[in-house]
Amino acid sequence: MSEMALSGGCLCGAVRYTTRSEKPHASVCHCRMCQRWNGAPFFMAFSVRATEITWQGQPVEWRSSDIAVRSHCGACGTPLYWKGDREPEYFDIALMTLDDPSVLTPVDQIWSTAAAHWPGILPDLTAWPREEREGEPFVRGSD
Ligand SMILES: [Zn+2]
Ligand SMILES: [Zn+2]
Repeated sequence: MSEMALSGGCLCGAVRYTTRSEKPHASVCHCRMCQRWNGAPFFMAFSVRATEITWQGQPVEWRSSDIAVRSHCGACGTPLYWKGDREPEYFDIALMTLDDPSVLTPVDQIWSTAAAHWPGILPDLTAWPREEREGEPFVRGSD
């Protein structure tokens, strides 16, 4: 497979990254934690290995649950990545932080049971009711 070079960063520019990897898997997460974290109906991310990322600036990391950490820019608050303890070598980077987000299209969606009332479960994407790696018991209306 051919390698793909990507670049992106937060809104204020204090944190930037470049990645070089095989075409990353991109997906949508509808879980309540991602909704709150982003203030949006869902979070979109692409997965790359830590060894495939170069960071400029220092992302702030915090433990959002007993199975994962999340990260944002300490200056502007832009969400940057989710990282699960089970696969700590992988970063799920916020897709819309890419300089050109159009180069990646999500291929599936997880936590469809928690999809917001609008726009709801997205058409044309495989929908998974939960995601074991997220380990969140939330379903619509239960939080
Ligand atoms: Zn920033
Ligand atoms: Zn999520």
